[in-house]
Amino acid sequence: MIPALPRAVWDELRATAGDFIVNTRGWDWALVQPRHRARPSVSDVTSPCPTKRDVYLRKVAGVRAENRAMSRGKEVHEAFMAPFKGEERDYEDPLLRRVYEEGKLRKAEAEAEGIPVSVEPEIPGSPIGLSSVLRPDFLVGFIPVEVVYGNGLERKKLAVTGYALALESWTGHPVDAAVVISVTEKRTYWNLVRIHEGLRKKFLEMRDEVANMLAEGDDPGPADECPSTCPFREVCGR
Ligand code: SF4
Repeated sequence: MIPALPRAVWDELRATAGDFIVNTRGWDWALVQPRHRARPSVSDVTSPCPTKRDVYLRKVAGVRAENRAMSRGKEVHEAFMAPFKGEERDYEDPLLRRVYEEGKLRKAEAEAEGIPVSVEPEIPGSPIGLSSVLRPDFLVGFIPVEVVYGNGLERKKLAVTGYALALESWTGHPVDAAVVISVTEKRTYWNLVRIHEGLRKKFLEMRDEVANMLAEGDDPGPADECPSTCPFREVCGR
């Protein structure tokens, strides 16, 4: 069993290994080379706004915004990460307490197995056209692991794809799987993500779209449908 991942995830990982063909690898310069001078972060590429206007507002127009949904997401994230960073917490909030205890359990299992889990490791992003340093939440072996609260699973599938490509470019080692831990009010789900060709192409397409927007400084305009949790709703008149 890979420490810090539940047994069911590891079983699924083994059962589906080699089920798909990958052509686009992070080490293949011809396929992953940057196409625009701007270097977006993984968060920029995978931001929640359908037109990426949130990235434009933050990075080009310099607008700052935060709302309760964002700060709650950060609290949940920190509660899960705390045990891995050696931080003791005493939460009264039931959700934060539950998530903190889950993190503690995974940390204890990782230590019992003796395989270190890297917490927020630094990975070079420039070789694949991203910001110079990338920081996934965890690396368990060569498996990137991200934590998200609420409805961010699809975005996080793209985010772990970006980390997988960056790891491949850095190490020359194929990274075919990742995990997204999605936390809801009721329970925590461990989602195994196969980094298949479709996800790789989609990530690179989005990277190019966002890099082009940042390089040109063009406002992409508001989206037709906006997530209710977007902190820029007032700015965009939504
Ligand atoms: S309010 Fe809508 S258009 Fe504006 S940044 Fe948010 S999601 Fe994008």
